[in-house]
Amino acid sequence: MDPRKELKDLIAQAREHLLYFSELGLTSIGERSAAAAAELKGEIRVAERTAPIASEPEPQESQASTFIPSPQAVPTPIIMMPTKKENTAEPALFDEPANLTVKPQPVSETLEDIRRDLGDCQRCKLWSTRTNIVFGEGSAKAELMFIGEGPGADEDASGRPFVGRAGQLLTKMIEAIDLKREDVYIANVVKSRPPGNRTPESDEVKACIPFLFRQIAAIRPKLIVALGNPAMQALLDTKTGITKMRGQFQDYPRIPEIKVLPTFHPAYLLRSPDKKREAWEDLKKVRAFLRGEIAPE
Ligand code: URA
Repeated sequence: MDPRKELKDLIAQAREHLLYFSELGLTSIGERSAAAAAELKGEIRVAERTAPIASEPEPQESQASTFIPSPQAVPTPIIMMPTKKENTAEPALFDEPANLTVKPQPVSETLEDIRRDLGDCQRCKLWSTRTNIVFGEGSAKAELMFIGEGPGADEDASGRPFVGRAGQLLTKMIEAIDLKREDVYIANVVKSRPPGNRTPESDEVKACIPFLFRQIAAIRPKLIVALGNPAMQALLDTKTGITKMRGQFQDYPRIPEIKVLPTFHPAYLLRSPDKKREAWEDLKKVRAFLRGEIAPE
């Protein structure tokens, strides 16, 4: 081959390659310059300092009820990809997404994190009369949660939820739908015993319920059974009574994929055994829902 023609072909090929690289956005070939390396490092440091932490997808939550660790507490290193050049003359080689920045992932917390944050809680007046905090117990991966209103005397003494007479009935209710206590998660709206087993007051619920919301967000069950009025009203943010709402599936307002089924509190069933039939109807719905036999109507 004519050496001059060979040289021409080589130059044409090299030009094509350069065009190809420039369409990919490459501006230099070979070692990255010291300035460019420093710029890239700087970008990563800025990203570490300023990366926002995505919050729980819970639209109406107040700051107090959401776990939003400050960026300083939990730096999320993200690597910034080169952003697309504005007004670029060359057509894009591929259909690139408009924003090439890597989005930070939501930070999830564990039940242990939440328990640690609760600490030796003194956020409301109940701390002064309690013996033990009753945080909750069961499977961290439970598909089903039972929520009561607050610890009684036996729970206060032991630090475990639903272990007294009402608790024994709850255990039977769980077993009646072919589950074991260890399969589910059991907790309360307030984690310290209201003196004399009175209903928790609104300031107590307000101080404590963010921890329950966080437990629910960490466990992400399919279904929550709200036991009695205080639990149902706190979870669904409603003033409607349990007699009207029991047995009807509701969306958990903070995470609507989670359903809530209100039913009677076992302590009420102990006082009014004639209501056990209705509670059993509700429990059969729980079982059918978890088995995928019914959808929430
Ligand atoms: N009643 C409740 O609401 N919760 C308990 O843990 C025990 C009794």
